[in-house]
This record gives sequence, structure tokens and C-alpha cells, in this order.
Amino acid sequence: MLDKIVIANRGEIALRILRACWELGLKTVAIHSEVDRELKHVLLADETVCIGPAASSQSYLNIPAVISAAEITDAVAIHPGYGFLSENADFAERVEQSGFVFIGPRPETIRLIGDKVSAIKAMKSSGVPCVPGSEGPLGEDDEENIAIAKEIGYPVMIKASGGGGGRGMRVVHSEAHLPTAISLTRSEASAAFGNDMVYMEKYLENPRHVEFQVLADTHGQAIYLGERDCSMQRRHQKVVEEAPAPGITNEQRQRMGEICTEACRKMGYRGAGTFEFLYQDGEFYFIEMNTRVQVEHPVTEMITGIDIVKEQLRIAAGEKLSYRQEDIMIHGHAIECRINAEDPTNFMPSPGTVTRYHTPGGPGVRIDSHLYAGYTVPPHYDSLIGKLITHGETREAAIARMQIALTELVIDGIKCNAPLHQKILDNTHFRAGGANIHYLERMLGL
Ligand code: ADP
Repeated sequence: MLDKIVIANRGEIALRILRACWELGLKTVAIHSEVDRELKHVLLADETVCIGPAASSQSYLNIPAVISAAEITDAVAIHPGYGFLSENADFAERVEQSGFVFIGPRPETIRLIGDKVSAIKAMKSSGVPCVPGSEGPLGEDDEENIAIAKEIGYPVMIKASGGGGGRGMRVVHSEAHLPTAISLTRSEASAAFGNDMVYMEKYLENPRHVEFQVLADTHGQAIYLGERDCSMQRRHQKVVEEAPAPGITNEQRQRMGEICTEACRKMGYRGAGTFEFLYQDGEFYFIEMNTRVQVEHPVTEMITGIDIVKEQLRIAAGEKLSYRQEDIMIHGHAIECRINAEDPTNFMPSPGTVTRYHTPGGPGVRIDSHLYAGYTVPPHYDSLIGKLITHGETREAAIARMQIALTELVIDGIKCNAPLHQKILDNTHFRAGGANIHYLERMLGL
């Protein structure tokens, strides 16, 4: 096994990783910024190292500082969590070159998949269905691009190959706006991602977001753990996720799961991963793959009983997957509400000190959060302060449990988006299941 792990992240996911390490009897090193000394996992960890000031660029994104922390603590492996350096191929490479185990795919896989144009190419060659599009990067020739758009049919979407986090995308409805949209996306992409490569895709007007979770070991085995529906989004950011996706049949799950695991075997994929698809009119269209654990992984854990983070650690240790595909059973339904420190009406971040904190409980209720009374949410990072997850025999039962759990949840001193979640759970269209990716913004009148 791995012995000692550096947790190169913060907040709820750092605590989640610490728990998985401890369950496997592994020691933990919490690395943190100057303002994160009071984070729950930092207080609990076997060892801690302060790696720099509050600004992520000088701490959580500072590759030499993270690697030095592993060196001085004699750690064996680094778990990057999600966000920060988790999908940075240069980081993964530096980790391995420094003699540590990177808990994630091989650096070259991250590089291939991190660039959306090369990822789509690789997926297509493995038989993964993709959105009709430009088959590669767009050139500078307006006439040529206009011809590509005509072939695809409007509306089209211009996307940055290096984009992420819902940024670097632009919808174009007519030829007149195409050249400007391409050059705008190009310059934004260059500024934001240091890569001005853009490509074109058919803009799907009312798709759902359905993604498949996979696990692959270093012995050529890959399994799928079913799918999640993450269509409830605001500004391309997920707000509520659930598993399984309403209305997806066993036959569809098996067909898509097999396509994804086959792609993993072809790529020599290692670790946990997610294939993201848009789903419209019964068809799946690949949009991107995430090469890390995802925020919404607990809904899959709740319906399969598999601890995805523990599996990541085992795979990194070179062990064979503990499960075969036929061992994977789906039980009931799970829903996750992302709890953010923000104003539920205008979405403004609401950092500050938590004065009171009461968590819900009871059967089928799980909370993944680093909060405690007296903890101060710093203003420097993402506003996610926890995830509330409920499981039930049916979707209705999971929703009912979530409504009660949200009523029980008390977070005083800062604002949080629990009232927004209550509104979503009360909504008839959400309750019916299968709302598309635009529904939440329409519901909110945005
Ligand atoms: P990111 O890496 O920034 O998350 P994605 O490619 O995963 O970018 O897209 C994020 C979201 O943008 C999707 O969940 C979907 O809501 C929307 N989107 C992306 N591509 C398309 C498309 N071709 N048609 C319609 N919506 C899209």
C-alpha cells in the first residue's frame, strides 16, 4: 500500500480524502495556505505543512511548494482532489519525476484528454459518440468556418479547446455573427487558458447532462458505475446532481458503460474518470472527460455502495480493481445538493464565520462538509462549503428525505443556498425528472 498521502486540496474534498486514507490505514499530510489553518482536515491530519499565502496561485497551485511538502514529510503519493492541480498534466509529470505516485491517470492521458480537440479525436476513434462538429480546430479563414457552420447547421457553439469550468464557450445563431464570435472566443481562450485553439460544435438546444463514472486499474481492467444526471445547472455549473439519471434504461446504461470502459482500455486509462455527455432525443453526445474524482461522486457511491476515493487509492497502489462489472448493482436513487456560501437570491459569495451549525441525519442522509461552528469561510476560494446527499428506494423517497434534511440544516453567520434547493425540490418539473440543462436558469427567470 501507499503508507503516507499528501492531500493537495482543501475544503470538503480534502476531508473526504483524509477519511478514505484513514479507513485504509494510511497516514495523511494536509497542505494548506496561511488562511486555511483552521480547516477541519488540517486540524485532523497526521501532519500539516503550510505551503504559502491565501492566493491559490501561491499555494494550492504552486507546484514546487506542493512537491516540497511531499519531500519533507517523506510521503509516497499525492492526491490532487478536484480543481486546483488535479487536471494539470505538467503537475502529474513533475510528481512522478520527483519519485511520488500521482493519484490519477498517467500525465500523457491527462494531456490528451485535457485538450478537448484531441480528446474528441481520441473518443471518436474509440467509438464514443460525439457532437457533430468541426472535426478539429478552426482556422483563420472566415469563408471556411462559415462553410463548416452551414454543414453543421445553426445554432453552433464555439468552444475553447483548453476551456474548463463552464468558460470559453459561445453560441452563434447566424452566419453574420460567426467570425466575430470565433475571434472573441479565441482571444478569451488565449487570455484565460493560454491556448487560443477553438473548435465548433452543433449547439444542442434542449439536452440533459448525463455522465458515466468509470474506474480503471493498471492491469487493463475497467468498470462503469452507472450514470449521473447533472442537468440542474446555473452558468454551466452544476447545482443538483442525481443517480441514476431518470428514464435511462438498463440497456442504454450497459451500452454506454461498455463504450466508455472500452475507450478506457484503449487509452490505457488509470484511476477514476467521468465521461460527460449531452443527452437529447435518446442519443448521447460526448462533450468531455474529467480525469479526476468529481464533486458529485457521492451519488454514485450511494447507489452502488462503492467508495470511489478508496478505489482511487487502491488503483494508485497498483492493486487490481476490487470489483468486476457483474458485481456492480444499482440500489435505489440518490440526490446531491451543493451547499454554497452564497446569497440564495443574487448568488453573491457570502464568506464569514459560522456561528451555529446543525447537520441533518437519519436513514439515507449523508453530509460531506468541512464546516463546524466557529469556522470562518475565507473569501479566497470557491464558495462550496458542503454537499448534502440523500438516498432512498425511489427518486421520490430520495427527494422527500432531501426536503426534510434541508429543513433540519442550520448554518448561521453566513448565507447559504439551502433556500434555492428547497425551491428546486418543490418544483413540479424537477419532480417529474428529466429537466434539461436550461431549465434551472429559466425557472429562476435568468
Ligand atoms: P467545461 O469544461 O467548461 O465544463 P463542457 O464542454 O463540459 O465545458 O460544457 C459545459 C456545459 O456547457 C455543458 O454541461 C452544457 O451545459 C453546455 N454545453 C457544452 N457544449 C454544448 C453543446 N454542444 N450544446 C449545448 N450545450 C453545450
